[in-house]
Amino acid sequence: MANYNRKDFAKLVVLGGIGYTVFACAEDAKKDKTSKEDTAPKMPKLLPENVKLYQKADAEYQELAVRFNKRFQQSPTYIAQCFTTQGVADAVKFARFKNLKVVVKSGGHSFEGFSSTNDGLVVDVSAVKTMEWTPDHSLTVGAGCILKELYDELLPKQRILPSGSCATVGIAGLTLGGGYGFFSRKYGLTCDSLQEITIVDGNGNILHESGNSAILKACKGGGNGNFGIVTRMKFRTYQAPKFFQAFRCKSYKLDTKRAKELLQTWFEYTEKLPKTAFSAFVLNGKTLTILITSYSDDDNDVLAMYNALKAKSDKATIGSKRPLAKALKTFYGVQHPIYFKNACAGLYQNFAEIEGCIDDVISKVISSRGLIYQVNTLGGNINSVAAEKRSVYPHRSYPYLSELQSYWDKPSQEASRLTAFQEVQDYFYQHGIRAHYRNYPDINFKDFETAYYGKYLPELKKIKQQLDPENRIQHPQSI
Ligand SMILES: Cc1cc2nc3c(=O)[nH]c(=O)nc-3n(C[C@H](O)[C@H](O)[C@H](O)COP(=O)(O)OP(=O)(O)OC[C@H]3O[C@@H](n4cnc5c(N)ncnc54)[C@H](O)[C@@H]3O)c2cc1C
Repeated sequence: MANYNRKDFAKLVVLGGIGYTVFACAEDAKKDKTSKEDTAPKMPKLLPENVKLYQKADAEYQELAVRFNKRFQQSPTYIAQCFTTQGVADAVKFARFKNLKVVVKSGGHSFEGFSSTNDGLVVDVSAVKTMEWTPDHSLTVGAGCILKELYDELLPKQRILPSGSCATVGIAGLTLGGGYGFFSRKYGLTCDSLQEITIVDGNGNILHESGNSAILKACKGGGNGNFGIVTRMKFRTYQAPKFFQAFRCKSYKLDTKRAKELLQTWFEYTEKLPKTAFSAFVLNGKTLTILITSYSDDDNDVLAMYNALKAKSDKATIGSKRPLAKALKTFYGVQHPIYFKNACAGLYQNFAEIEGCIDDVISKVISSRGLIYQVNTLGGNINSVAAEKRSVYPHRSYPYLSELQSYWDKPSQEASRLTAFQEVQDYFYQHGIRAHYRNYPDINFKDFETAYYGKYLPELKKIKQQLDPENRIQHPQSI
């Protein structure tokens, strides 16, 4: 063994260090070269069984460019109609090759036109409509399925998924932002039943996520067009109830005082509703409709609420107990494109939270043409600690979700509708209402990321960095 003194040793370390640095630099240069070669965008093979690309002159483009909200008539540079996950991956690689941003479209029901663009490439997955059952009653669906198609598959097999009611809304967009409906107080948000996904990231890589995956978690409330394109979703399903019943109370020619009193009563009684019931307070100008739905024979509290509101309303009806499939169809809504502006008007804990601004809100709704103010019940099993741990939906403790809506026939009506709409939103904002549902976006929300994602925003930013470091996938309110 050679003997080294301190000087020699220091020399060795320095030389060794230099040697290592030179070697490491050479390796890095090699790595850099290979990684650049590997990651440099290449033109992918676009096979027509996987994906078809359309531009403005194509007849298919005109059809695929249509969205549910006629307020947005956008013209992307390309529309990639995808039929398979591979097709989505190839479309993203094509966008990288052309250096185009990517916008994702499933059901096309975004309130603010976030599934199209005036430049860039739209990855349209609406043709991915596969459905596959597993023996444990889980259903795997393609991201292009709309709710009507889902219910047509589920209900004949006496199964349900807690989801929305409008027939043509896409299951993908709805689930990735949370998703709620008539059955959510018992079975949770739609995203709480999501078990597995296939997702294509911003580089065109295909990932399968399940179990404790952070990416799956991020897709439960934070996945709308932010960092990947979901192509396949596996859901747990539940035994369908035997019947569905609707109770309605209507009041006409309301003034602010009476509408407020009815709203206060509505809040008071919804606190006691069983998890099998849902309710909505819908003030459309001067006309109020209160809807209560139930699918359980344990309906004492439902009847108590109905009777209390009936006493204060102009008209009240109890619908018959109808088979679920038939009853749900009555809530399918308009199925063709319309002009509208809808948005979240806040998530609340109780009436006290909005008491200070509700006179202004109701007065504006009553005195404006075509404004609708609606409050819906959440709560129940949505507010579950276990579900919270597995998702990034940050608003579970809020039992009430409100929305503002306006519909019109001609573009010339838009400006006045939007002005009145914004005035109401300003009342809520000035009153400190800040929490909003991602699936009910408003382009005018200040600090929208915190409003939608709350404490989960840093987690989502990390996933964005991991899956889409070039910010390929985007829309005006993406992360
Ligand atoms: C008439 C109507 C009724 C509604 N009813 C309900 C209801 O009862 N309950 C409820 O919770 N919500 C409801 N919503 C809101 C609805 O959940 C959202 O508008 C939802 O985002 C629509 O999804 P979509 O796939 O139809 O829309 P799209 O416009 O296709 O997409 C909406 C957003 O999701 C993104 N996105 C879509 N597909 C994917 C994908 N595969 N991967 C990643 N990102 C994707 C888009 O980029 C966009 O940002 C309703 C909306 C409308 C217009």
